Amino acid sequence: MRQGRLYVISGPTAVGKGTLCEEILKDSDDFVLSISATTRKIRSNEKEGISYYFKSKEEFEDMITRQMFLEYAKVHDQYYGTPKSFVENMRKEGKNILLEIDTQGGLQVKKNDSEAILIFIAPPNLETLVERIHRRGTETEEEVQKRLKNAALEFSNMDKYDYMVINDDLATAKNELKNIFCAEKLRIKNNIDLVEEFSERTKYYD
Ligand code: 5GP
Repeated sequence: MRQGRLYVISGPTAVGKGTLCEEILKDSDDFVLSISATTRKIRSNEKEGISYYFKSKEEFEDMITRQMFLEYAKVHDQYYGTPKSFVENMRKEGKNILLEIDTQGGLQVKKNDSEAILIFIAPPNLETLVERIHRRGTETEEEVQKRLKNAALEFSNMDKYDYMVINDDLATAKNELKNIFCAEKLRIKNNIDLVEEFSERTKYYD
C-alpha cells in the first residue's frame, strides 16, 4: 500500500483554515486531520480530543522529552504540537494527513520530510483578516493583538511554502485546495510503481 501524503495547512489566525479542512474531510475518506496537543485554555465551543488534546505545561514538556511529537512550537506563548504516532499509523494505512499548524511547525515538518507539501492559506487582504478575528469574538482584546502580531510571523514564512490559496470565497478556496491534492496525486514520483510496471513490461519491445 502507498504511504499517505503529509499536507501542512498554515496561515494567519481566523483565515479559515479550520473550515477549509472540515470541508475537505467531509468530501473524502482519503484524508484525516491530525489532532494537536496544546497548553492553551479550552474555548467554550471546543471539545477535548476533537479540537485539541488540552495539556498542562508539565504534561506537554514530558511529551517533548519522550519525543512524542512530529513537530511542536510556541505560538501566542503557548505550546502546540503534533503527536507523532497518529500521523505515522494513518500514513501507513494510506491516508493523507492534514496538519493544521503554524509556519514554524510547517517548516520543521518539511525539514524532516522533504516530501511534505506546505500550503499557505491567505486572506484576500489585511482588512478582512482584522475584521474576521474581531467577528469571531472568542478572544480578549489583548489576545487579539497577540494573534495579529503572530500573523506577521506567518506572513514572513509564506515564501518558503509550496502553494498559496486565497480564502475569499470558501467554495473557490476549497476547489483550489482540491486541485493541489489532485496535482500531487498525479506526480510521477508519487506513481513510481506504475512507471516501473510499464517500463518492466515493455522492455523487450526494443
Ligand atoms: P488556536 O489557538 O487559534 O487554535 O491556534 C493558534 C495557532 O496554532 C494556529 O496558527 C494553528 O495553526 C497553530 N497550531 C495548532 N496546532 C498546532 C500544532 O500542532 N503545531 C504547531 N506548530 N502549530 C499549531
